[in-house]
Amino acid sequence: MTAGFLQVKNIVYHYPVGRKKIKALDGISLALKREGTLGIVGESGSGKSTLGKTIAGLLAPQRGAIVFKGLEISGKMNTSVQYVFQNSSKALNPRMRVRDLIAEGLIIQKKWPRKRDLIIRDVMDAVGLPERVASYLPGQLSGGQIQRVALARVLAVEPEVLILDEPVSSLDVTTGAMLLLMLAELRKKKKLSYIIISHDLAVLRQTCTDIAVIYAGKIVEAGRADYIFTKPRHMYTKMLLAAHPQPDPAFKIRVEIRREAADPLHLPSGCRFHPRCPEALPLCRRQPPGMVNVAKEHCVSCHLAG
Ligand code: ATP
Ligand code: SF4
Ligand code: MG
Repeated sequence: MTAGFLQVKNIVYHYPVGRKKIKALDGISLALKREGTLGIVGESGSGKSTLGKTIAGLLAPQRGAIVFKGLEISGKMNTSVQYVFQNSSKALNPRMRVRDLIAEGLIIQKKWPRKRDLIIRDVMDAVGLPERVASYLPGQLSGGQIQRVALARVLAVEPEVLILDEPVSSLDVTTGAMLLLMLAELRKKKKLSYIIISHDLAVLRQTCTDIAVIYAGKIVEAGRADYIFTKPRHMYTKMLLAAHPQPDPAFKIRVEIRREAADPLHLPSGCRFHPRCPEALPLCRRQPPGMVNVAKEHCVSCHLAG
């Protein structure tokens, strides 16, 4: 991928489990363009949330670096790069009122004490929350309002990058569609850049300029969204697309979904995808494939891609 203003360079994050390790991220490189929207897609357990938290500095990578506007920010919380949790309703303190939840980041950072009420009103307005909910507790809000509060919280500290982890997966279709529309408007208005994590390709198709496909802690394919959706090269990407209803009936990818995703404690040798791949070669069992550029903004990790 082209160099962006936020770069993820070969990061590794392994969770220790007893004497073993879960290799949640195993050498991930990505780039987010300024004011771009990068979608990260993969099955459950592929490492998406770990990646989001690592980019936001909530987890420190054991190897590799996160570079934002030329500065290394690995393992450091940074006001400019904010993460919105996958499960916002659980991430919000149920005993805090909306106004205090939104102000929390400003208080922790001792920012603008005199302007706080104004900022709270401004971000609530930006995410479409009526003023009356400022005194509500999370338990008194709808799912859509909870997501908006989670967004308002991070917007209050004026970030440049938002990492949105499954922003609409807990919402019904119309509430989700409205939230995505609001996010698109917000991005333009506040000149934000987004990383959107989702298992739902329809969400990413609608919102993203670039896509990265993750499988068992590795990026298997990445590039411009139109390439990924219309000319996918990796079997796993094809499998994800085939599992999803296509809006264009002329677009036919027939790939059967085979077997369960890789067990993170017993990852296959060579290409981690080989037990599920209908095109696997004997080489695939022995040797992990490298990343190959198949177009200017399209790269694939597969022995067949070269
Ligand atoms: P989902 O789509 O279900 O949210 P994900 O792609 O976000 O999944 P992660 O939550 O990043 O996946 O998890 C990646 C791997 O790391 C999984 O195998 C998961 O079980 C493991 N993992 C995540 N958090 C921890 C933790 N705190 N301790 C140990 N293992 C963990
Ligand atoms: Fe399939 Fe081999 Fe390519 Fe892996 S490297 S996706 S097993 S063809
Ligand atoms: Mg997740």
